[in-house]
Amino acid sequence: MIKDIKLVLFDLDNTLLSFSEYWTEATHTIFYLSDFTKDLPFDEFFSYYRQYDQYFWELHHEGRISLDEVRQQRLIKTLDEFDQKISTEEADCYFNEFFHQLIHLVKPDQALHKYLLELKKSYQIGIITNGKVEEQRAKIQKMNLHNVLSEEEIFISEEMGIEKPHEEAFHIPLVKYGVAPSQAVYIGDSWNNDIVGAIDAGMSAIWINPQNMEAPTNHKPLFITENMLTLKEEWPLQFKEVKLASK
Ligand SMILES: [Mg+2]
Repeated sequence: MIKDIKLVLFDLDNTLLSFSEYWTEATHTIFYLSDFTKDLPFDEFFSYYRQYDQYFWELHHEGRISLDEVRQQRLIKTLDEFDQKISTEEADCYFNEFFHQLIHLVKPDQALHKYLLELKKSYQIGIITNGKVEEQRAKIQKMNLHNVLSEEEIFISEEMGIEKPHEEAFHIPLVKYGVAPSQAVYIGDSWNNDIVGAIDAGMSAIWINPQNMEAPTNHKPLFITENMLTLKEEWPLQFKEVKLASK
């Protein structure tokens, strides 16, 4: 049952930020800039790179390898397919160049700012994101989100010492806001990290699901929407109805 919601928390990558689009574009740019890759066939490279990226992310989610290892190994294994050997240090340089390109692409979104400011009139808001402090802050800065959110309203896993979907990654922010889990909603695109994590932590959740994927578990989000644009259209309306129905 939905009680009065006081706090609205968002995921960052692929929720507030179109990370996949930027990721693909920056991967393309760095491919043609780097001496390691520029002479290879892009489509073949990218196909292997995406497969290895997915494979190593799964190992990371299982807690078997670090984020740095994901970034190193997806490139090392892809280049291996082309009989090309590179060191982990060289793979780190490739990633750093890629990230530089990615950050360069990130632009502020006025419609998003407006929506968050509108929400802020009725609720406390914030971000909980998995990732490295320096990288996540760089994205938030390029999005100009500091105009909308204070430092205290941004929670980064590296800083908290725990990642979503662990309950603790949701409870640390809730304690800071002084809000009970039942009075908070979490909005994100990852079923496991965001929806399962938030619901298991006692919160409500809204699933951003652009690919129209099937829900892999029985967890019940408040509702499912395609992206931030559709959320903006649907949510305050749906939310009022939910609030009314719960009275
Ligand atoms: Mg995400």
